[in-house]
Amino acid sequence: MSHCVRRTTADLVAELHETAATNDRAALVVGFDDRTEFVWASDPDALLSLNTHVRNGGDPLGVVTGQSRGPSSVSVRATPLAEYEGTEWVEKYLIQVLAAVRYQANTAWLHSDISLMPQREKVWSAWNYLGSRKDDGSRAVCVSYWLNRLQDLPCRSDVVLTLNPPQPPNPATVMGRFDYEHPVFDQPAIDAQRRLPDIQGRHRAWFAGAWTGYGFHEDGLKSALRVVKDFGVLPDWAAL
Ligand SMILES: Cc1cc2nc3c(=O)[nH]c(=O)nc-3n(C[C@H](O)[C@H](O)[C@H](O)COP(=O)(O)OP(=O)(O)OC[C@H]3O[C@@H](n4cnc5c(N)ncnc54)[C@H](O)[C@@H]3O)c2cc1C
Repeated sequence: MSHCVRRTTADLVAELHETAATNDRAALVVGFDDRTEFVWASDPDALLSLNTHVRNGGDPLGVVTGQSRGPSSVSVRATPLAEYEGTEWVEKYLIQVLAAVRYQANTAWLHSDISLMPQREKVWSAWNYLGSRKDDGSRAVCVSYWLNRLQDLPCRSDVVLTLNPPQPPNPATVMGRFDYEHPVFDQPAIDAQRRLPDIQGRHRAWFAGAWTGYGFHEDGLKSALRVVKDFGVLPDWAAL
């Protein structure tokens, strides 16, 4: 992977401002099919402008700098941004980030077999972790969700959802079986999450989902809010 591929839009804007320090004028060039736009270093919202242009179909093409050498002479230099050329970033970078997040199979059973709940009914909670002294850490985590409490079900009979039971529930009690895949939050996945801002919005592709956080509902919501913030339409109630 070349070094420049890792530059983010924020980096590009930072470089633009650095370049501007030694030049009269500097701008990022954004190419559309039918026109060219410039994001000027002097623009206080340069990052927002760049993101808006990219979102609207523009490709950042390079940095241009101009230097005045007297009243009638201006020299202009253009530097292309190689990381935005072609599909290299998709093949070498985007795929590396996304492929680093592995998934593991989890089976969920919907049932009313209370042998998959804690033995003492007094300690039943909405979430019930079911471990065993024999566990050596190799078995997938087993949790029984007591849906009567979790979802305040208006029924007397117990309704339980168990993820990865050590043995299937009594068949007479089974209402359904569902096979899921969940992200595995190991070190490569955590590293990949950290690199997500580098690919967000590039080539008009944004990524959201609970997998970008800890896998909870809130993480899914937060990730979507991060995306809409980039679109400039963050709702008033949202605080990131
Ligand atoms: C049994 C169980 C209990 C859970 N309990 C809790 C809990 O108590 N609290 C909590 O916070 N979280 C809980 N979670 C986790 C939480 O539900 C998930 O993390 C969350 O729903 C994930 O949301 P998401 O939008 O990221 O992904 P998903 O809800 O998986 O949405 C992804 C969507 O993309 C669709 N899709 C996939 N591939 C394609 C494709 N190629 N083209 C088009 N569409 C596609 C899928 O059909 C799906 O609709 C639980 C999960 C399970 C399975």
